[in-house]
Amino acid sequence: MPVVADARPIAQTILRMQEVDKTFAGNVVALRRMSMDVRQGDFISLLGPSGCGKSTALRLIAGLMRPTLGRIDWQTEGGGDDLGVVFQEPTLMPWATVEKNVWLPFRLRGKSLSACRDQIHEALELVGLKGFERRYPRELSGGMKMRVSIARALVTNPRLILMDEPFAALDEITRQKLNDDLLALKAKTNATVIFVTHSVFESVFLSDRILVMAARPGRVVAEIDVPEPYPRGAAWRNSHAYVETAQRTSEALQRTLHPETEAL
Ligand code: ADP
Ligand code: MG
Repeated sequence: MPVVADARPIAQTILRMQEVDKTFAGNVVALRRMSMDVRQGDFISLLGPSGCGKSTALRLIAGLMRPTLGRIDWQTEGGGDDLGVVFQEPTLMPWATVEKNVWLPFRLRGKSLSACRDQIHEALELVGLKGFERRYPRELSGGMKMRVSIARALVTNPRLILMDEPFAALDEITRQKLNDDLLALKAKTNATVIFVTHSVFESVFLSDRILVMAARPGRVVAEIDVPEPYPRGAAWRNSHAYVETAQRTSEALQRTLHPETEAL
Protein backbone atom coordinates (compact mmCIF):
# COMPACT_ATOMS: atom_id res chain seq x y z
CA MET A 1 0.00 0.00 0.00
CA PRO A 2 1.29 3.48 -0.77
CA VAL A 3 2.26 5.42 2.34
CA VAL A 4 1.14 8.79 1.00
CA ALA A 5 -2.08 8.82 -0.97
CA ASP A 6 -2.44 11.34 -3.78
CA ALA A 7 -5.11 13.74 -2.57
CA ARG A 8 -6.16 14.85 -6.05
CA PRO A 9 -9.28 13.15 -7.27
CA ILE A 10 -8.70 11.13 -10.42
CA ALA A 11 -11.21 12.34 -12.96
CA GLN A 12 -13.13 9.65 -14.75
CA THR A 13 -12.52 9.24 -18.48
CA ILE A 14 -15.87 9.69 -20.19
CA LEU A 15 -14.93 9.46 -23.85
CA ARG A 16 -12.03 7.91 -25.71
CA MET A 17 -11.25 8.68 -29.34
CA GLN A 18 -8.62 6.38 -30.83
CA GLU A 19 -6.84 6.80 -34.15
CA VAL A 20 -9.91 8.18 -35.87
CA ASP A 21 -9.89 8.84 -39.61
CA LYS A 22 -12.71 10.44 -41.54
CA THR A 23 -12.55 10.45 -45.32
CA PHE A 24 -15.27 11.98 -47.46
CA ALA A 25 -16.17 11.22 -51.07
CA GLY A 26 -13.53 12.48 -53.46
CA ASN A 27 -10.80 11.31 -51.08
CA VAL A 28 -11.07 14.38 -48.82
CA VAL A 29 -9.23 13.42 -45.64
CA ALA A 30 -11.13 15.56 -43.13
CA LEU A 31 -9.44 13.91 -40.18
CA ARG A 32 -6.40 11.67 -39.85
CA ARG A 33 -5.45 9.62 -36.80
CA MET A 34 -7.11 11.79 -34.20
CA SER A 35 -6.95 10.52 -30.63
CA MET A 36 -8.02 12.07 -27.37
CA ASP A 37 -9.25 11.13 -23.94
CA VAL A 38 -11.92 13.34 -22.44
CA ARG A 39 -12.11 13.29 -18.64
CA GLN A 40 -14.89 14.56 -16.41
CA GLY A 41 -14.48 18.31 -15.94
CA ASP A 42 -12.09 18.82 -18.87
CA PHE A 43 -12.29 21.98 -20.94
CA ILE A 44 -10.69 21.07 -24.26
CA SER A 45 -10.32 23.44 -27.21
CA LEU A 46 -9.89 22.32 -30.79
CA LEU A 47 -7.99 25.19 -32.40
CA GLY A 48 -7.13 25.45 -36.07
CA PRO A 49 -7.71 27.10 -39.42
CA SER A 50 -10.83 26.64 -41.46
CA GLY A 51 -11.08 23.18 -42.99
CA CYS A 52 -8.85 21.35 -40.49
CA GLY A 53 -11.64 19.02 -39.37
CA LYS A 54 -12.85 20.67 -36.14
CA SER A 55 -16.54 20.39 -36.98
CA THR A 56 -16.00 16.91 -38.35
CA ALA A 57 -14.48 15.87 -35.01
CA LEU A 58 -17.49 17.26 -33.13
CA ARG A 59 -19.96 15.60 -35.48
CA LEU A 60 -18.21 12.27 -35.02
CA ILE A 61 -18.31 12.65 -31.23
CA ALA A 62 -21.98 13.62 -31.41
CA GLY A 63 -22.63 10.39 -33.33
CA LEU A 64 -23.98 12.30 -36.34
CA MET A 65 -21.65 10.26 -38.53
CA ARG A 66 -19.26 7.34 -38.19
CA PRO A 67 -15.46 7.29 -38.40
CA THR A 68 -13.95 5.75 -41.53
CA LEU A 69 -11.32 4.13 -39.31
CA GLY A 70 -10.65 4.04 -35.58
CA ARG A 71 -12.96 4.10 -32.59
CA ILE A 72 -14.92 6.49 -30.42
CA ASP A 73 -16.00 4.86 -27.19
CA TRP A 74 -18.07 6.28 -24.37
CA GLN A 75 -16.76 5.08 -21.05
CA THR A 76 -20.01 5.80 -19.25
CA GLU A 77 -23.55 4.53 -19.22
CA GLY A 78 -25.97 6.57 -21.28
CA GLY A 79 -23.25 7.37 -23.83
CA GLY A 80 -24.04 9.59 -26.76
CA ASP A 81 -27.57 10.46 -25.61
CA ASP A 82 -26.10 12.57 -22.89
CA LEU A 83 -24.87 15.53 -24.95
CA GLY A 84 -25.52 19.24 -25.21
CA VAL A 85 -24.59 20.96 -28.46
CA VAL A 86 -24.12 24.67 -29.23
CA PHE A 87 -23.48 25.90 -32.78
CA GLN A 88 -22.25 29.22 -34.13
CA GLU A 89 -25.81 30.16 -35.06
CA PRO A 90 -28.11 30.07 -32.04
CA THR A 91 -30.73 28.11 -34.09
CA LEU A 92 -33.69 29.20 -31.96
CA MET A 93 -37.30 28.67 -33.00
CA PRO A 94 -38.47 32.24 -33.77
CA TRP A 95 -42.14 31.48 -33.04
CA ALA A 96 -41.47 30.15 -29.54
CA THR A 97 -40.68 31.99 -26.30
CA VAL A 98 -37.26 31.72 -24.66
CA GLU A 99 -38.70 29.27 -22.14
CA LYS A 100 -40.15 27.05 -24.85
CA ASN A 101 -36.90 27.12 -26.81
CA VAL A 102 -35.01 25.86 -23.76
CA TRP A 103 -37.72 23.23 -23.21
CA LEU A 104 -36.90 21.61 -26.61
CA PRO A 105 -34.53 18.82 -25.44
CA PHE A 106 -37.07 17.80 -22.81
CA ARG A 107 -39.94 18.01 -25.29
CA LEU A 108 -38.06 15.67 -27.60
CA ARG A 109 -37.98 13.23 -24.69
CA GLY A 110 -41.72 13.55 -24.19
CA LYS A 111 -41.66 15.75 -21.07
CA SER A 112 -44.24 18.48 -20.50
CA LEU A 113 -43.25 22.11 -20.02
CA SER A 114 -44.74 22.25 -16.53
CA ALA A 115 -42.72 19.20 -15.44
CA CYS A 116 -39.44 20.86 -16.49
CA ARG A 117 -40.13 24.49 -15.67
CA ASP A 118 -37.86 24.59 -12.62
CA GLN A 119 -34.90 23.19 -14.54
CA ILE A 120 -35.55 25.56 -17.46
CA HIS A 121 -35.62 28.58 -15.16
CA GLU A 122 -32.49 27.39 -13.38
CA ALA A 123 -30.63 27.07 -16.73
CA LEU A 124 -31.79 30.55 -17.78
CA GLU A 125 -30.62 31.94 -14.47
CA LEU A 126 -27.20 30.29 -14.98
CA VAL A 127 -26.76 32.12 -18.30
CA GLY A 128 -28.01 35.44 -16.88
CA LEU A 129 -31.45 35.46 -18.50
CA LYS A 130 -33.70 35.31 -15.47
CA GLY A 131 -36.82 37.33 -16.26
CA PHE A 132 -36.62 36.74 -20.03
CA GLU A 133 -38.63 33.50 -20.03
CA ARG A 134 -41.59 34.89 -21.96
CA ARG A 135 -39.63 36.95 -24.49
CA TYR A 136 -39.26 35.97 -28.14
CA PRO A 137 -35.89 35.55 -29.91
CA ARG A 138 -36.53 38.67 -32.06
CA GLU A 139 -36.54 40.75 -28.86
CA LEU A 140 -33.02 39.61 -27.91
CA SER A 141 -29.51 40.74 -28.92
CA GLY A 142 -27.08 38.31 -30.61
CA GLY A 143 -25.31 37.64 -27.30
CA MET A 144 -28.60 36.96 -25.52
CA LYS A 145 -29.71 34.55 -28.23
CA MET A 146 -26.44 32.68 -27.78
CA ARG A 147 -27.13 32.54 -24.02
CA VAL A 148 -30.50 30.94 -24.74
CA SER A 149 -28.77 28.41 -26.97
CA ILE A 150 -26.30 27.62 -24.17
CA ALA A 151 -29.14 27.28 -21.64
CA ARG A 152 -30.83 24.82 -23.99
CA ALA A 153 -27.62 22.76 -24.22
CA LEU A 154 -27.22 22.73 -20.42
CA VAL A 155 -30.76 22.21 -19.28
CA THR A 156 -30.65 18.42 -19.25
CA ASN A 157 -27.36 18.50 -17.34
CA PRO A 158 -25.51 16.56 -20.05
CA ARG A 159 -22.31 14.67 -19.42
CA LEU A 160 -20.54 16.45 -22.29
CA ILE A 161 -21.12 19.81 -23.99
CA LEU A 162 -19.92 20.35 -27.57
CA MET A 163 -19.55 23.96 -28.73
CA ASP A 164 -18.73 24.72 -32.38
CA GLU A 165 -17.39 28.31 -32.66
CA PRO A 166 -20.27 29.56 -30.53
CA PHE A 167 -19.03 33.13 -30.15
CA ALA A 168 -17.40 33.65 -33.56
CA ALA A 169 -20.23 35.84 -34.87
CA LEU A 170 -20.33 38.11 -31.82
CA ASP A 171 -18.51 41.40 -31.22
CA GLU A 172 -15.36 41.32 -29.10
CA ILE A 173 -16.90 42.79 -25.92
CA THR A 174 -19.83 40.38 -25.98
CA ARG A 175 -17.47 37.51 -26.69
CA GLN A 176 -15.28 38.34 -23.67
CA LYS A 177 -18.32 38.62 -21.44
CA LEU A 178 -19.62 35.26 -22.64
CA ASN A 179 -16.16 33.73 -22.12
CA ASP A 180 -16.20 34.97 -18.51
CA ASP A 181 -19.72 33.72 -18.00
CA LEU A 182 -18.98 30.36 -19.57
CA LEU A 183 -16.19 29.78 -17.05
CA ALA A 184 -18.41 30.89 -14.16
CA LEU A 185 -21.00 28.46 -15.37
CA LYS A 186 -18.43 25.70 -15.67
CA ALA A 187 -17.33 26.37 -12.09
CA LYS A 188 -20.91 25.95 -10.89
CA THR A 189 -21.76 22.84 -12.88
CA ASN A 190 -18.35 21.18 -13.40
CA ALA A 191 -19.45 20.64 -16.99
CA THR A 192 -17.13 18.90 -19.43
CA VAL A 193 -16.68 20.93 -22.60
CA ILE A 194 -15.15 20.45 -26.04
CA PHE A 195 -14.92 23.90 -27.58
CA VAL A 196 -14.09 24.66 -31.21
CA THR A 197 -12.50 28.00 -32.03
CA HIS A 198 -10.03 29.64 -34.35
CA SER A 199 -9.10 32.23 -31.74
CA VAL A 200 -5.82 31.63 -29.93
CA PHE A 201 -6.79 34.00 -27.11
CA GLU A 202 -10.16 32.41 -26.57
CA SER A 203 -8.67 28.93 -26.41
CA VAL A 204 -5.97 29.98 -23.91
CA PHE A 205 -8.41 31.89 -21.75
CA LEU A 206 -10.93 29.06 -21.52
CA SER A 207 -9.30 25.68 -21.77
CA ASP A 208 -7.07 23.44 -19.74
CA ARG A 209 -6.01 21.60 -22.89
CA ILE A 210 -5.67 22.88 -26.45
CA LEU A 211 -5.41 20.56 -29.44
CA VAL A 212 -3.86 22.53 -32.29
CA MET A 213 -4.99 21.21 -35.65
CA ALA A 214 -3.80 21.57 -39.24
CA ALA A 215 -5.63 21.08 -42.54
CA ARG A 216 -5.11 18.85 -45.60
CA PRO A 217 -5.21 16.35 -44.07
CA GLY A 218 -7.04 17.45 -40.91
CA ARG A 219 -4.95 16.34 -37.95
CA VAL A 220 -3.75 17.27 -34.46
CA VAL A 221 -0.23 18.72 -34.60
CA ALA A 222 0.29 19.95 -31.04
CA GLU A 223 -1.21 19.60 -27.62
CA ILE A 224 -0.81 22.48 -25.20
CA ASP A 225 -1.65 22.20 -21.52
CA VAL A 226 -2.83 25.31 -19.73
CA PRO A 227 -2.34 24.49 -16.05
CA GLU A 228 -3.77 27.78 -14.72
CA PRO A 229 -6.40 26.85 -12.12
CA TYR A 230 -10.04 27.90 -12.35
CA PRO A 231 -11.74 30.24 -11.65
CA ARG A 232 -10.02 32.45 -14.22
CA GLY A 233 -10.83 36.09 -14.81
CA ALA A 234 -9.28 39.45 -15.61
CA ALA A 235 -6.11 38.62 -13.63
CA TRP A 236 -5.49 35.61 -15.87
CA ARG A 237 -6.14 37.64 -19.03
CA ASN A 238 -3.53 40.19 -17.94
CA SER A 239 -0.92 37.76 -16.65
CA HIS A 240 2.50 37.01 -18.08
CA ALA A 241 1.66 33.29 -18.21
CA TYR A 242 -1.40 34.01 -20.37
CA VAL A 243 0.61 36.05 -22.87
CA GLU A 244 3.37 33.45 -22.92
CA THR A 245 0.90 30.60 -23.49
CA ALA A 246 -0.86 32.55 -26.23
CA GLN A 247 2.49 33.13 -27.93
CA ARG A 248 3.39 29.45 -27.75
CA THR A 249 -0.03 28.45 -29.05
CA SER A 250 0.17 30.98 -31.84
CA GLU A 251 3.56 29.61 -32.91
CA ALA A 252 2.14 26.07 -32.98
CA LEU A 253 -0.71 27.37 -35.13
CA GLN A 254 1.72 29.13 -37.48
CA ARG A 255 3.56 25.88 -37.97
CA THR A 256 0.32 24.28 -39.19
CA LEU A 257 0.56 26.46 -42.27
CA HIS A 258 3.59 24.43 -43.38
CA PRO A 259 2.40 21.32 -45.17
CA GLU A 260 5.39 19.23 -44.09
CA THR A 261 4.32 19.35 -40.42
CA GLU A 262 4.10 15.82 -39.06
CA ALA A 263 1.00 14.54 -37.35
CA LEU A 264 1.41 13.90 -33.61
P1 ADP B 1 -13.51 23.02 -39.86
O1 ADP B 1 -14.71 22.87 -38.99
O2 ADP B 1 -12.21 22.88 -39.12
O3 ADP B 1 -13.54 24.28 -40.67
P2 ADP B 1 -14.62 20.76 -41.28
O4 ADP B 1 -14.63 19.66 -40.30
O5 ADP B 1 -15.93 21.43 -41.54
O6 ADP B 1 -13.50 21.81 -40.92
O7 ADP B 1 -14.12 20.20 -42.69
C1 ADP B 1 -12.90 19.49 -42.85
C2 ADP B 1 -12.73 19.11 -44.33
O8 ADP B 1 -13.71 18.15 -44.69
C3 ADP B 1 -12.91 20.27 -45.28
O9 ADP B 1 -12.03 20.08 -46.36
C4 ADP B 1 -14.34 20.13 -45.73
O10 ADP B 1 -14.53 20.68 -47.01
C5 ADP B 1 -14.53 18.63 -45.73
N1 ADP B 1 -15.91 18.22 -45.42
C6 ADP B 1 -16.59 18.47 -44.28
N2 ADP B 1 -17.80 17.92 -44.29
C7 ADP B 1 -17.92 17.29 -45.51
C8 ADP B 1 -18.95 16.51 -46.14
N3 ADP B 1 -20.11 16.27 -45.52
N4 ADP B 1 -18.70 16.03 -47.38
C9 ADP B 1 -17.52 16.26 -48.00
N5 ADP B 1 -16.51 16.97 -47.45
C10 ADP B 1 -16.70 17.48 -46.22
MG1 MG C 1 -16.32 24.17 -38.60
